[in-house]
Amino acid sequence: MSEEKKEEEYRLEKDQELRFEVEARATATLELLDGMAEIFGTELTKGKKYLFESCSKVAVYTWHGCVVKISFVTEVAYIADGTPMTVYVNVHAALEQMRQKADEERSRGPRVMVVGPTDVGKSTLCRLLLNYAARLDRASVYVDLDVGQGEVSIPGTIGAAVVERPAEIEEGYSLNAPLVFHYGHTSPSSNYPLFKMLVSRMAECVNKKTEKSKKCNVSGCIINTGGWIKGAGYDSLKHIAGSFEVDVILVLGQERLYSELKRDMPDFVNVILLPKSGGVVERNQHQRSDFRDQRVREYFYGPKKNGDDSFFPHPTEVSYNDIKLYKIGGTNILHHVFSVSTAKSIEDAVLECNVYGHVVISGIDPDKLTATVLSPSPEKLPSSILLLMDMQFMDIDM
Ligand code: ADP
Repeated sequence: MSEEKKEEEYRLEKDQELRFEVEARATATLELLDGMAEIFGTELTKGKKYLFESCSKVAVYTWHGCVVKISFVTEVAYIADGTPMTVYVNVHAALEQMRQKADEERSRGPRVMVVGPTDVGKSTLCRLLLNYAARLDRASVYVDLDVGQGEVSIPGTIGAAVVERPAEIEEGYSLNAPLVFHYGHTSPSSNYPLFKMLVSRMAECVNKKTEKSKKCNVSGCIINTGGWIKGAGYDSLKHIAGSFEVDVILVLGQERLYSELKRDMPDFVNVILLPKSGGVVERNQHQRSDFRDQRVREYFYGPKKNGDDSFFPHPTEVSYNDIKLYKIGGTNILHHVFSVSTAKSIEDAVLECNVYGHVVISGIDPDKLTATVLSPSPEKLPSSILLLMDMQFMDIDM
């Protein structure tokens, strides 16, 4: 791609946002020249150059006005006012009051669930609320139940982690020791009983975590969900709300879902309808699948920094005797992603055990009875029990 970048300066008034989208196979650089601004709740540092990868969709918001410069290959940027940011920050302020009350009364902080159809800005709102909380020195538990576009680990898993610092502008959350469960599919409807069981199991683990840490308990949880909201999908939302004993439900952009939840939730649950931001970009099936592939690639190669990969996966040859491959529920295993289970043996309740991480079987040698396992870590596999996922990863970069 030619790197003939065009530079453009934008002056934003207070309560405006600059929205831009990076072209496929291109990058954009952003710099704050004057004033203060933030991206999804993380403050920008003046004079620092931020690099955005191909297909990023970004909003630079300012409470008081700022000047920013973008270097683009092709420009797709516009300034918008009338954002829902004031409404969102009021939600944050209300949650913060609940945390202060929990602190004084030694009780539990808010457990918030964000729901709505796909592409209404659910993940972005979660990020905003987590970042604002972290900026006030809170340590909220982020629970991501979106198996299609999950952010804690790769798609096909559900995960949770404590967010103590605002997400990095370029790299997202720096999550310490996330807890990840293997699900294996990218839609909760593919194996709904398993999805429900994992939600309950995750809720138990989050309760254990918050019982042990007063700071986490007071800070509360932010729970992200997928866009499956009709039929059994609606049932899954009720199951999530019940398992985590949520007390706040934020419904983004759908009045029908709001009124259904208002009707069906117990009185102590505060169901709130919030406007969707006009900046949220809708993705088609193809873009969604590209995004999933990109997440899996990032798992093995790390996020791109200055256009280069930061990490490389390590290929190791392992004997067939040293691994046990399981599919939940004949098997083409080549190029499939596997979760490395923490289960000690298959007699353990494997499904209820969390996972160390993920590997890919990138080759098999039927003569030597060995498989080549590609892993982000050069260490020996921590367990022999590998669970098959639907996702595949072809390492064409090697
Ligand atoms: P959901 O979780 O509901 O599927 P996301 O929060 O992932 O939706 O948002 C979809 C896309 O829109 C993401 O790529 C996100 O970066 C982008 N986006 C969200 N809010 C804005 C905004 N205000 N301006 C520009 N892009 C946005």
